[in-house]
Amino acid sequence: MSIQKNLETVLENIRYSEKKAGRQENSVKLLAVSKFHPADAVLEAIKAGQCMFGENRVQEAAAKFTEIHRTHPEAELHIIGQLQSNKVKKAVQIANCIESADRIELIKEIEKQCEKINKTIKILLEVHTAEDSKSGFENFDSLVSAVQFIADGNTPHVILNGLMTMAPFTDDEALIRKSFSTVRLYAEQIRTAFPEFTLPVLSMGMSNDYKIAIEEGSTEVRVGTAIFGERNYSE
Ligand SMILES: *Cc1c(COP(=O)(O)O)cnc(C)c1O
Repeated sequence: MSIQKNLETVLENIRYSEKKAGRQENSVKLLAVSKFHPADAVLEAIKAGQCMFGENRVQEAAAKFTEIHRTHPEAELHIIGQLQSNKVKKAVQIANCIESADRIELIKEIEKQCEKINKTIKILLEVHTAEDSKSGFENFDSLVSAVQFIADGNTPHVILNGLMTMAPFTDDEALIRKSFSTVRLYAEQIRTAFPEFTLPVLSMGMSNDYKIAIEEGSTEVRVGTAIFGERNYSE
């Protein structure tokens, strides 16, 4: 199957799931996760009309997207993997959004590096909802502390755009659903407590579970394998 065909299929599935869940058409965006796939694959996806991409390693993303941005400056890049503080400088240079903000220290570093280059960047706060995942704010209280930190005006170069999570890797649909509904609930509670944050983005759902995520309120699904095929980690 070609990348173009895969993209068509995934987009059809997204539209179908929106409808089935009673969601507005086009309320769910597709982030194509291109990690471990070459720049050529990204270019093929761009040609097929895809404009948002996700990468989880800064080094790899920088190498790939410096090239891609030369001919396609409009291609949007989101960093979705766990981010070490010493990679933030590079990350904010190349990315439009950092979806894996998972600690206040990291948010401080994002602010510091963005201020230096006079750039404003979007972030999502990652919520830890799966036993088998390591990253994300551990609970509602720690999440709210981060929101409060931003609300206090400490980060003028950071736009809090929403929440992100990774569901557990399991066949247990109830567990997956719980992970997504928890994050949706957290977002509702934050909007009530902090009306200045509308949190338009809930980044939830991957190749295996994006249909469930859409039923549970996702506004952005991060899909890699179903678009680009299996990743070869040995290379
Ligand atoms: C790799 C990755 C994805 C995409 O996973 P697929 O199963 O290939 O769709 C989504 N989100 C994050 C955070 C990832 O690291």
